[in-house]
Amino acid sequence: MSEHIFLSPPDCGPAEAQAVQRALASGWVAPLGPEVDAFEAEVAARTGRRHAVALSSGTAALHLALLGVGVGPGDVVLTSTLTFVATASAVRYCGAEPVFVDSDESGNMDPGLLDLAITDQRRRRRRIGAVLPVDLLGKVAAYEELLTVAAESGIPLVSDAAESFGAVRRGRPAGSFGRAAAISFNGNKIMTTSGGGALVTDDGAVAARARYLATQARQPVAHYEHTEIGYNYRLSNLLAALGRAQLARLDEMIERRRALRMLYRELFAGTPGVEVLGAPDGSEIDVAALRRSGPHGRLTRDNFWLTTVLVDAAVAGWTPADLIAALARADIEARPMWKPLHRQPVFARSTVYGGATAERLFARGVTLPSGSALDVAGWARVADTVRAFLQRRAQAGRPAARLSVGRTPAGTRPLRAAGAP
Ligand SMILES: *Cc1c(COP(=O)(O)O)cnc(C)c1O
Repeated sequence: MSEHIFLSPPDCGPAEAQAVQRALASGWVAPLGPEVDAFEAEVAARTGRRHAVALSSGTAALHLALLGVGVGPGDVVLTSTLTFVATASAVRYCGAEPVFVDSDESGNMDPGLLDLAITDQRRRRRRIGAVLPVDLLGKVAAYEELLTVAAESGIPLVSDAAESFGAVRRGRPAGSFGRAAAISFNGNKIMTTSGGGALVTDDGAVAARARYLATQARQPVAHYEHTEIGYNYRLSNLLAALGRAQLARLDEMIERRRALRMLYRELFAGTPGVEVLGAPDGSEIDVAALRRSGPHGRLTRDNFWLTTVLVDAAVAGWTPADLIAALARADIEARPMWKPLHRQPVFARSTVYGGATAERLFARGVTLPSGSALDVAGWARVADTVRAFLQRRAQAGRPAARLSVGRTPAGTRPLRAAGAP
């Protein structure tokens, strides 16, 4: 049997092994150490921030960022519905209530709806502790609009940049927007520390508070003195070393995911009812062009973390589930997008503004293998499987397309013999 192809597995090699070995040999195993300090400086530089705090997960970074801007019990936090559950879980950790805002066609928070949500929540006399947009699948949200809307109401913005590390919008890096941003280095993200994350901010007080809360809220005295409850959220020195090796390869890994994005676009070109989510994504811009543009360039480019295609079953004649099943039979992992959080049982009673766009993207989306470690043979297997599926469907699928469109009266168009080649 051939090897299983995962959606987005870690991409580690000799450089990572060496880095972990180096940290081990130095004696600085845990908890903190020089690798953590260096990693924090490098992450801050990459996101254009003054401070980075390396943490045990992206979820921990979200939690501390929300606490840092003053979110507390009873507050409302306006966040995207189309996201991974951790975004809203972090809101709950603060004793606050997530209120969901629909996305626009890009998958990211709709600024117009955010405006409406703020007005309506204020009318209901709710205190809005923060606005928390998400950079879905590696595309930086429309912060120039979102920040304006939030600032007009005096509400701090925290950016969930867990999925977008390395991306840029109008020349500004992911993670640079808002009072603070959270980055994830989980095993499936664009780069990994096996598990980890970072809070980035320009606000020294937010960074200091995060460091303090992440180390059990220990007072700076020799004995263990505590005046409030903290958390055990710091990243270990060993994992920071792994992160530094990954960070040195980040541009190369983004390039590989960009190449996959372009290959998928070619693969599905000319297939009716199928489009790649996220255009324009800057996939025509390579790393060299990005560097030439310098810090003041105005370029916008995703990090291509995951590639999702949207399938209009009525036009295509097949459903997202059909494609996922065909890939599964060939031992290839593909998945639906995040299920909108307002549809999750745990948030069933939460308020949502809009929701239909996220639901449609969820119903249509298929997320395809996007890992930077996918090699030529692996890609060939994915592409061959997709081509064979599309071909079978093109031959057999017309009746299905006709039925689901439901306009042509039955029997008026000659059916090709079902199943005939
Ligand atoms: C992965 C992810 C997180 C959580 O990051 P962890 O490091 O897994 O805790 C938060 N938000 C989004 C949008 C994510 O994709």
